[in-house]
Amino acid sequence: MTRFAIGVDLGGTNLRVAAVNENGGLFDHLSLETLVERGREDVVNRLTNGILELVNRWKDRYQLAGIGVGVPGIIRMREGILVASPNLPGWENFNIRGHIARKLNSPFFLENDANAAALGEKWIGAGKNVNHLCFLTMGTGIGGGLIFDGKIWHGVSGMAAELGHVTLYPGGRLCACGNKGCLEAYAAASAVVKAAQEILQAGTASEGLQKLANSGLKMTSARVYELAKEGDASAQEIFNQVGRALGMAIANFINIFDISTFILGGGAVEAWDAFEKSMFEEVALRSYVWRNDPREILKSSLGSQAGIFGAAYLAFQ
Ligand SMILES: [Zn+2]
Repeated sequence: MTRFAIGVDLGGTNLRVAAVNENGGLFDHLSLETLVERGREDVVNRLTNGILELVNRWKDRYQLAGIGVGVPGIIRMREGILVASPNLPGWENFNIRGHIARKLNSPFFLENDANAAALGEKWIGAGKNVNHLCFLTMGTGIGGGLIFDGKIWHGVSGMAAELGHVTLYPGGRLCACGNKGCLEAYAAASAVVKAAQEILQAGTASEGLQKLANSGLKMTSARVYELAKEGDASAQEIFNQVGRALGMAIANFINIFDISTFILGGGAVEAWDAFEKSMFEEVALRSYVWRNDPREILKSSLGSQAGIFGAAYLAFQ
């Protein structure tokens, strides 16, 4: 009997549940809203109802291999406790594994969302031909995942690969985590907006950026990227800064881990052509390992579905 798994990607905005076969074919899915304002019990109820709906729809035709759930935030893996999650306010120290288990009545795998996305890329994405990879997801924040020997590297407690919070600029821009100068504070989508605001406040903005600020439209990383494509000097400098921060971080990771493949995912990767030049220059400048033996830095090939595939693959593994 063909096997299938359920993969769940719980985000701050969207809650997605999918049925995936062993070849990486996604054959059924539910796209729900997280509605985090209704409280965590309500979210967990809708999450488990979604899982049960898909399981019941397919369990007579295929054999259920298992269920994987990716959640944003740092998880103490042994206890299944979500320690902190910027995208899920009010969920601090929430026993998420216990609450899901109570509703589900069957075993499942809990995983950090970026770790799950890294595993998805390893399974059927940009990293499918390598055994070691480093994944960075660039959205509002920056998440990280490390795959060593084909498996997620969890560290001692499950909190490994918080790669968005390595310090690049001591005394630099304040990060959501409380530290100053993190990679996230310089390369996430939110950092692009912050950089634009700083330039505007300093009074050094180019004409295009100033016009955008005066237009009444919300300042977003996508709009700054549009300006960069049109050749606006301030917007291009903002993305050069993004590239330098990424390149600096990746150079450090190459020097530490000596792995072959880096994969960038998340919405901000759309702006790849605006930051790649400064990123590659910075990696070459800062890593002598790279200069002697360049590595691959690739775009995610699964996009926003990487997390769902990775969560499902936990069950097949
Ligand atoms: Zn940080």
